[in-house]
Amino acid sequence: MKKKTLFSREEMTRLCVDALKTRGVLVDDIAEIAYKQQGKYTPNIRFETCRESVLKILSLRDIFHHVLLAVELDKMAEKKMFEGPIQDIIEQDLGLFGVDEVLGLDVARLYGVIGMTNFGDIDVNKHGIVSKLNEDGKKEGIVHTFLDDIVGAIAAAASTRVAQVINEEVAHEEPHKAITLFD
Ligand code: MG
Repeated sequence: MKKKTLFSREEMTRLCVDALKTRGVLVDDIAEIAYKQQGKYTPNIRFETCRESVLKILSLRDIFHHVLLAVELDKMAEKKMFEGPIQDIIEQDLGLFGVDEVLGLDVARLYGVIGMTNFGDIDVNKHGIVSKLNEDGKKEGIVHTFLDDIVGAIAAAASTRVAQVINEEVAHEEPHKAITLFD
């Protein structure tokens, strides 16, 4: 019998949350990065809004696939399951290996160019849990090559989503003005 491959959004959220938790990452760790990043541009954002955005993003099928794949790739490298040079490249998180960033960018891309630049900021400046994952990944037996990027990308997407949600609210509050083609 074929195994289950299609999951509901609730199931995908739970599976993502559980997979990340087994690797030491909590939803609030990701929300924290989004909160700090977006807080620089948008005062008075609520932590809860950031947490909601993280959970919403984790419920999307594409993101679910990315998260589970990223987590498994790191675990496989820890167990030395790859053959040939790619095992050492992933295990040692070679600086010139960029496939982990590609997976991250693909997640951040969900929120356009702003999502991608927010991901770049987290990738370069290693905010919050991303810095810890990066440092821990240098220890013997621990591989976080894909995890740090996927976590940073979810935070970047969540941060950008919060900005979109807040701006939508502002747009609704602004008095109605007739829009003409030449405004
Ligand atoms: Mg990486």
